[in-house]
Amino acid sequence: SIPLGFFGGIGGASRNGILVKGSNYLEALNYVDTVVFDKTGTLTKGVFNVTEVNPADGIGKDELLRFAALCESHSNHPIALSILKAYGEEINKEDIESYEEIPGYGIKVFAGGREILAGNAKLMKMKNISFEEVDAAGTIVNVAVDGKYAGHIIISDEIKEDSERAIRSLKALGVKRTVMLTGDVKSVGEKVASGLGIDEVFAELLPHEKVERVEELSKKEGVKGKIAFVGDGINDAPVLARADVGIAMGGLGSDAAIEAADVVIMTDEPSKVAGAIGIARRTRRIVW
Ligand code: ADP
Ligand code: MG
Repeated sequence: SIPLGFFGGIGGASRNGILVKGSNYLEALNYVDTVVFDKTGTLTKGVFNVTEVNPADGIGKDELLRFAALCESHSNHPIALSILKAYGEEINKEDIESYEEIPGYGIKVFAGGREILAGNAKLMKMKNISFEEVDAAGTIVNVAVDGKYAGHIIISDEIKEDSERAIRSLKALGVKRTVMLTGDVKSVGEKVASGLGIDEVFAELLPHEKVERVEELSKKEGVKGKIAFVGDGINDAPVLARADVGIAMGGLGSDAAIEAADVVIMTDEPSKVAGAIGIARRTRRIVW
């Protein structure tokens, strides 16, 4: 039977905006000594702003933005939303003949008889596009039309105000390791992680590589505790499912995340991860 105190713990958590899907997860939270965060939408706002539009020779800025917007019109990725906002006009969905989202890479569409790609450097390499590799403070979305580089768009995201507290509170609770995983480039990943005091960062990961990292972290020598993964579910639902405790950010998060997760944070505050661990510990003291 389940001790009554667990229900108290689950109820207490829910009053704090934390949904725990079962008493076993509340118990598991007690043993968490590694917390792995996804970057975009979890530690950062996931609200990107276009800061530069740099077309290749012979292409106009508006034209480049339109190509990118055609690609992004079916996507709900934070990057897509920022490009659509910058473009500003409605995209007629009937103009798009086919659409393919390649998680961790970007998008490919056929529109007006042309193949258009929008995504990171990995996507350009995969499709053998010769492109200009730039080093910028933000995330770069490269665009190619019919196999030819058309330019790039630079967008930037902001760290959530609550993220620093999220890491500090975990350390105060004695959590041994904090880790950040991202599909974004190294320069952006390292900047975010070092600013927040995160112990380890792994960048340029594809969704399946995020799962592998979590598996590796759990096999590391001396690791006895459980691993929690915190994500928004956009491209990371498999990682949520694989971690000992999968924690979804419900604020911006997708339905897939809420489904795959063991714990759902109803706001966009990552510091609630420490809050959940704190509640789990207090509950345990009452039960045993
Ligand atoms: P994170 O790990 O930071 O949450 P994702 O795994 O969602 O990021 O995406 C990783 C990278 O893949 C992005 O930084 C971007 O370069 C590229 N990407 C993913 N989705 C899109 C998209 N809709 N449009 C353009 N690029 C994308
Ligand atoms: Mg993500």
